[in-house]
Amino acid sequence: MSNMQERRGQVIQGVTGDWEVVVGLEVHAQVASNAKLFSGAPTTFGAGPNENVSLVDAAMPGMLPVINQFCVEQAIRTGLGINAKINLKSVFDRKNYFYPDLPAGYQISQYKDPIVGEGVVTVDLADGQSVDIGIERLHLEQDAGKSTHEGDHSLVDLNRAGVALMEIVSKPDIRSSEEAAAYLQKLRAILRYLGTCDGNMEEGSLRADVNVSVRKSGDPFGTRCEIKNVNSIRFVAAAIDYEARRQVDLIEDGGEVDQETRLFDPNTGKTRTMRSKEDAHDYRYFPDPDLLPLEFDQSVVDEIARNLPELPDQKKARFIEELGLSAYDAGVLVSEKETADFFEEAAAGRDPKIVANWTTGELFAALNKSGQSLSDCNVSAKQLGALIDLIADDTISGRIAKDVFEIMFEKGGNPAEIVEERGLKQVTDTSEIEAIVDQVIANNPDKAAEVKTKPKAIGWFVGQVMQASGGKANPKAVNEILKRKLES
Ligand code: ADP
Ligand code: MG
Repeated sequence: MSNMQERRGQVIQGVTGDWEVVVGLEVHAQVASNAKLFSGAPTTFGAGPNENVSLVDAAMPGMLPVINQFCVEQAIRTGLGINAKINLKSVFDRKNYFYPDLPAGYQISQYKDPIVGEGVVTVDLADGQSVDIGIERLHLEQDAGKSTHEGDHSLVDLNRAGVALMEIVSKPDIRSSEEAAAYLQKLRAILRYLGTCDGNMEEGSLRADVNVSVRKSGDPFGTRCEIKNVNSIRFVAAAIDYEARRQVDLIEDGGEVDQETRLFDPNTGKTRTMRSKEDAHDYRYFPDPDLLPLEFDQSVVDEIARNLPELPDQKKARFIEELGLSAYDAGVLVSEKETADFFEEAAAGRDPKIVANWTTGELFAALNKSGQSLSDCNVSAKQLGALIDLIADDTISGRIAKDVFEIMFEKGGNPAEIVEERGLKQVTDTSEIEAIVDQVIANNPDKAAEVKTKPKAIGWFVGQVMQASGGKANPKAVNEILKRKLES
């Protein structure tokens, strides 16, 4: 469904005309694994300083790395999830640099021969279009530790040192901050569906290095800057907007973009220089002599492929084809695994379109308004389903259901109990409704006469009767009785 040729990306207006933005993302995704990539040390988040450190992670002399097979399998799973080529032979290299939180003096990574090669991620945009973003590679590597600077001394925490990361490198196919945000959102969803990374950006399980350049339409790519370690989707978009504008202004002022590493400051919304960019040769990459090349059979890949879960694109297609949802609703519902799971649980055995309307309508609106996420919301999927059942079996009207929903959302509770306790059951007893109808007609004789010549005026009476019944009268019964009484 891609239409790379037709689409136009983000335009930055300069004094010399329009500029195009070019973006490529390098995403670091922490493998959801209990142990590190080359040691058995745990990876629990929030552990005390240096509690998750083995002798291997501390780079004690004579310690040897041993590859964690589970992490390898997660990389393969992820590769399959992004429609990529899996390389049956890959190589671990040492990337050499000095940093206090890197005790070995090198990071074990993959350079020329990564475990996963080219792939593609299809990204849905707000205007309903979709674009294919190419994936260059996915490789496995170790995370580094963390330094904290306090006054005249520094502290080193090696808990993260050696934790398994998947670095997922996109091609420079992204053409706007919106596309970059949508790509990251989609990639995170795929990782969460697969369960290979928890995608938690606040805890640092997912971070993006954002490469940005600008060019005049049709020109070759310009020089890029790399904005390091951006830790929210919103910040990625903001960093691109700022950086593209900065580069256009710089070039138009007669300057040149330096290929450098920059930092995004969320407080100012600006990027600033961190250091000039290293080239690959600065790292003196070479194959790690402690590790054999990583090799496995195609049968390993096939077995993992057989056990892949349904991914967002497939789920979306199924929601459209089998459940009859609109492409928009289906897209919104699958965009987070949590939402898709919620919807599917609520829709089981019910009209999927009605459940989709309640989920994307009332529920999303309430979540947006309160700033809550689905996981800390009072309304469970089962309870939303039960509420919808009460409308379907005429226990309550759709209007009353909205009130019940509000109570469920605010205070929690089962819809049937709330309806019972508050006496919200729909009045279907026709004699009761008739009494109200008679009263309203008696109070408004002029309007009643009007209905004879203007049948549409009956709508006003429906409203009055519903109001007089506190919204509890069955609207169908109200309509029938009014028709019978007013039109005869
Ligand atoms: P490095 O390790 O030097 O950062 P990588 O190959 O790992 O190089 O990553 C390069 C990243 O930069 C990729 O995501 C790629 O899409 C992106 N990129 C390359 N050239 C450009 C460019 N001219 N403008 C924007 N992004 C670019
Ligand atoms: Mg890089």
